[in-house]
Amino acid sequence: MNNRSIEQVVSPAQPHFVGDGFLVHNYIPSRSGMDMQRMDPFIMLDYNAPVEFPPSEEPRGVGVHPHRGFETVTIAYKGKVAHHDSSGGGGIIEEGDVQWMTAASGVLHKEYHEEEWSKKGGLFQMVQLWVNLPAKYKMNPPKYQAIKNQQMGVFQLPGNQGSVEVIAGKYSGVEGPAQTFSPIHMMNAQFESRGKADFSFPAHYTTCALVIEGEVSINDRVFSTNHFVLFSTDGEDFAVKATKPSKVLILSGEPLNEPIAAQGPFVMNTRQELWQAFTDFEDGKFGFLEE
Ligand code: MN
Repeated sequence: MNNRSIEQVVSPAQPHFVGDGFLVHNYIPSRSGMDMQRMDPFIMLDYNAPVEFPPSEEPRGVGVHPHRGFETVTIAYKGKVAHHDSSGGGGIIEEGDVQWMTAASGVLHKEYHEEEWSKKGGLFQMVQLWVNLPAKYKMNPPKYQAIKNQQMGVFQLPGNQGSVEVIAGKYSGVEGPAQTFSPIHMMNAQFESRGKADFSFPAHYTTCALVIEGEVSINDRVFSTNHFVLFSTDGEDFAVKATKPSKVLILSGEPLNEPIAAQGPFVMNTRQELWQAFTDFEDGKFGFLEE
């Protein structure tokens, strides 16, 4: 073991609404200095902790908005979301599924609670993560990966301790289905009470964990639900031990180490490219998407 220490812990901030459909705690960029450079290649992390939405005939969500220069990754734990984008991508993200949208050169996007689900309402729990794209891929055509739960690689921890569901990258030889533009590991670790798993990623990778459910101990510190742990780059390995049934989202990505010029829904490398993104959006070059 070449132990990785903990650099910072973020407790959940007051949640805020994104549109009228997502009540999120924001962790990246964090109020405590974990900015886009430190979190490279992760740009933003919002987590809608479990919340009960009442039935609504009119689906709640976020109307048409642009993205350029990065990817949005939506992980649905509870509830259903319908996505559409101007490149023709879209679909329904059901419980356990992940949608990996590569906005790249630009899309218009809308994200709503799925219509039938919305009519019934219910428990809603979801993550949205923005992953930056390397400069050479920022103007690629948009792409959409609908990753069903059954497609994910699953590593069973020995002795009914739980399992690790791999979305991207690798865990103990099990690979995740998501195609990424830079090395990224993304997984949901599910633990029975007293379950334990070891994780190892290259030391310089930006590595973090979000406790989705339950309570875990890492480096002899205890973290409860909705706490976010940023690891330092001083080692490769860490162990997560559950003190009760738990779920933890684990992220590790190689930093791109490129300049970041970000504003609102655009993440580019220079101010000039950012200005170009706004101009192209104003000129209608992101295509069309019905409200
Ligand atoms: Mn969006």
